[in-house]
Amino acid sequence: MSTTNITILLPAGRLPLAVMSRAHELALGNDLSVYLTNEQNLRLLDVPQDKAPEIRQVFMDMGMQLKAPGRFPLPKVCVGQVNCKLGRINPEEISARMVERFSGREIKPKLKIGVAACMFSCSGATVKDIGVVSAKSGFDLYVGGKAGVQPQAGRRVLKGVDEEELLQAIEKVVDFHQERTSKKQRMARLIDDPDFPYPHEV
Ligand code: SF4
Repeated sequence: MSTTNITILLPAGRLPLAVMSRAHELALGNDLSVYLTNEQNLRLLDVPQDKAPEIRQVFMDMGMQLKAPGRFPLPKVCVGQVNCKLGRINPEEISARMVERFSGREIKPKLKIGVAACMFSCSGATVKDIGVVSAKSGFDLYVGGKAGVQPQAGRRVLKGVDEEELLQAIEKVVDFHQERTSKKQRMARLIDDPDFPYPHEV
C-alpha cells in the first residue's frame, strides 16, 4: 500500500495536548509512526494514501497548519528565559510576532529561520538562512547560515536592533529571496549578490 507523511506545524515547538492526544489515537488506529522533526514539528509517517485527506482534515479542524510548499516556515526556537537561566528573552514571543507578520505570504522553499535567546544559539540560529539572536541590548540578525554538506555560519548583518527594525529587516531579506530565485534556494547563495540589502558583516 502506498503511504505518505503529514507534518503538523508547531509554533515555537509547542505541542498542544489535544493535538498530541489526537495524534496518539490516529497513530494507534492506523499503525503510524510519530517523528519529531529537526524544525520542531510533528510528522506522522507511514500514512496510507487513502487515509491522508481525512487525517489532514482532523488537524486542520483543530486549527493547526500543515507543512505545504510555499508556506512561510515557523522559526525554530530555543527554550529561552522561561527554562534557561542564560536566556534574555522568551523566543516564543518573537516567533509569534514573525508568524503574525509573515504567515500569509508565499515563499520559495528552503528558507529556514531560527531564534535564540542568547549567543549560545541552541536552536542553531546562526546556521539558518535567517537567524535572530538576543544580544545584550536588542537583537542581532544573521543571514546565509546553513548546515548540510558544507555547513557555514551566517553573516551578522545587524546588531542590537529593536523588534520593529528586526522585522523590517527580515521582510527585506525575504523579499530579496523571493525576487531573486525562481525555485528553492538557500540564502547563502544570495548574500554575495551586489544588490543584497545587507552586504556587510557588522
Ligand atoms: S540559546 Fe542560550 S538561552 Fe537559549 S537555550 Fe541555549 S543557552 Fe539557553
